[in-house]
Amino acid sequence: MKPLPGRLVLLGHPVAHSLSPRMQNAALRAAGIPLAYELLDVTPAALAGTLPALVTARAAGNVTIPHKAAVAAQCDRLGGLAQRTGAVNTFWTEGGRLVGDNTDVEGFEDAVRALLGRLPSRADVAVFGAGGAAAAVLAAIERWDRCRVRLYNRTAAHAEALVSRFPDTAVAASAHEALLGTSLVINATSLGLHDDDTPFPVDALPPAAAVLDLVYRPGETALVREARALGHPADGGLHMLVGQGARAFERWFGVSPDPALMWRAVQDRP
Ligand code: NAP
Repeated sequence: MKPLPGRLVLLGHPVAHSLSPRMQNAALRAAGIPLAYELLDVTPAALAGTLPALVTARAAGNVTIPHKAAVAAQCDRLGGLAQRTGAVNTFWTEGGRLVGDNTDVEGFEDAVRALLGRLPSRADVAVFGAGGAAAAVLAAIERWDRCRVRLYNRTAAHAEALVSRFPDTAVAASAHEALLGTSLVINATSLGLHDDDTPFPVDALPPAAAVLDLVYRPGETALVREARALGHPADGGLHMLVGQGARAFERWFGVSPDPALMWRAVQDRP
């Protein structure tokens, strides 16, 4: 096991809703690691002052909305997936230096395996959204076997900017074009988190297309509920949450947590 960090935190704004303390504290207890995973609500204005204090405290942890890109810009060293996505969701210190990585990419792949039983090959994938989560999705799909993405986003300029970073894998498309002939549809927008909006009309899904919604909420999102009602395989974002959390735990401590235990911890939420 690696030397223990001084603190373990989730850095974001807001963070109170997060399920990460529930699953990480269960994993810490099971591994006998004497640390508690804490929520640290930091405004964008306070981030620059907070990071040096965290380095001094030899802290490690996760980063969530809206700080993933800003923390990436402040790290002394980035792992390959953090460089590719431009976003850090996992950090730790080494010799007084801040190191960042991105485990959302592997967490997304864990979620796809949970949904389909394997990673796709030669598939046309529809991606909705062009923010940080969509960047992690493209960074994963570009390493799959001959898969292509058609990506739709509300703000076309954001779609163009993201696909230009993944020119061999992704093109921008209309919502209608994105869905044509696709076998896997990813919702990487924040639609559905607090409402029953869906990123496209669910009855426009091609027959047998599978749906992975990165958003998670109790009782599932409207997208997942409606897709399942029409007979499509569909999952919400909890497998990705657990997957990215388990990979982060490995980066911090050099040992693997029990993902089944972390899964139970997020299932038991009120
Ligand atoms: P982000 O960088 O803020 O991007 C938000 C995306 O949602 C943008 O593409 C934005 O489009 C789109 N959007 C927001 N409101 C919309 C609306 N009313 N209509 C259409 N599109 C809208 O956020 P993110 O980090 O990519 O996260 C996106 C979602 O993924 C969040 O809900 C987050 O909880 C989820 N997520 C889940 C996990 C997990 O572990 N399961 C991990 C990461 C993220 P514009 O460009 O037009 O603004």
